[in-house]
Amino acid sequence: MSGSGPTGGGHDSPAITLDEALARIRGALTPATLIERVPVRGALGRVLAETVTADRDVPLRDNSAMDGYALRHADALAGPLRIIGDALAGHPYGSAVGPGECVRIMTGGVVPAGADTVVMQEHCAADGDHLRVERCPEPGANIRRAGEDLPRGGTVLEAGRRLTAADLGVLASVGRAEADVRYRPRVAFFSTGDELRSVGQPLGEGDVYDSNRYTLHGMLSRLGVEAVDLGVVRDDPEELRRALNEAAHRADVILTSGGVSVGSADYVTTVLSEIGEIGFWRVSVKPGRPLAFGHIGGAAFFGLPGNPVSSMVTFTQIVAPALRHLSGETPRPPLRFTARCTNALHKKPGLLEFQRGMLASGTDGQPEVTPFGRQGSGILRSMSAADCFIVLPREGAEIGAGDPVTVEPFQGPLAL
Ligand code: AMP
Ligand code: MG
Repeated sequence: MSGSGPTGGGHDSPAITLDEALARIRGALTPATLIERVPVRGALGRVLAETVTADRDVPLRDNSAMDGYALRHADALAGPLRIIGDALAGHPYGSAVGPGECVRIMTGGVVPAGADTVVMQEHCAADGDHLRVERCPEPGANIRRAGEDLPRGGTVLEAGRRLTAADLGVLASVGRAEADVRYRPRVAFFSTGDELRSVGQPLGEGDVYDSNRYTLHGMLSRLGVEAVDLGVVRDDPEELRRALNEAAHRADVILTSGGVSVGSADYVTTVLSEIGEIGFWRVSVKPGRPLAFGHIGGAAFFGLPGNPVSSMVTFTQIVAPALRHLSGETPRPPLRFTARCTNALHKKPGLLEFQRGMLASGTDGQPEVTPFGRQGSGILRSMSAADCFIVLPREGAEIGAGDPVTVEPFQGPLAL
């Protein structure tokens, strides 16, 4: 089986680095330009296709940050002030505050003309329509300025941003009922392997339940793509050909797991090199290593290794950035920081390694990470128990208990 193609070398090619794999994939994939207009409530997790600006100040007018009294700072301590009216949220006072006067104001009430300061009510004593200020703050205190959240004409949200719950509120705050978002890529996925059974079927001797379709479904859903589950396909070239052709018709991206090694039942790359263009790479990451990437017609193809942890790690490190790129999302490097490792670790040189770990605050408040005990690529529970990767560089390392290591908290496709 050759497995070689225009996007990469054959099985014998040396392993490439993760960065190189990512660069090649980015170069080969063009983000979809299709845009749809959706109601703001339906835009959560979608990628914004327009740069949104504010067409008025938010807030629209200077308003009070406190329940208290709006007054002229110069008058505050000069003697009793006359309370001439009320300014409630949604009910402005309507005329100006003159010398020796003040207006009772509630949080969110518009600061009347003439007033330049709000004194909180706890610092005043009211007697009928007279007010004595007991403690006067700085001039301008307790006023939220017009435009201090979003100034008129300013950029509110940039195109390429994946919209969060806060963003939906920000869109509403500038009066937007709808937003232009990018089309969601459609991803068809299936598992390969004669030993795989779907949940609900009886297990024969040596069979395993297909868990990858569930982890992949979860991660694809978190990324906001449209996922099409094509089930389990046997280790049979004819069946694989049929499934891959169907996937290429139905989707923008095809994702498979298993069958990309060099075992005697690993047909994925062979079939792909017949019906599409396939590059087969060994990427120098652990767990992971074998990864196929290419195209069938207009659909991009990713063949992930079958081991449950390897497929998740390669998905998060390679497929997820590729799908974000295809979705039109502005790239952001993963959040990584240093944490103290509670246990000693031995790391052989050669591969960038993604161990699974659990983050916590140490007794001194600093982040601390405990590696999950068993790091084999078949121990799926390590992914479930962990909340971060411990990222170990390609060079070998002896890490002692208490030494610093780099961690990458689970987010995006692995968010809880
Ligand atoms: P493969 O990459 O096909 O050589 O598979 C490597 C290992 O992962 C084998 O032990 C498979 O049984 C296991 N495996 C492959 N696909 C799945 C899957 N969808 N769910 C659970 N285990 C799998
Ligand atoms: Mg297999």
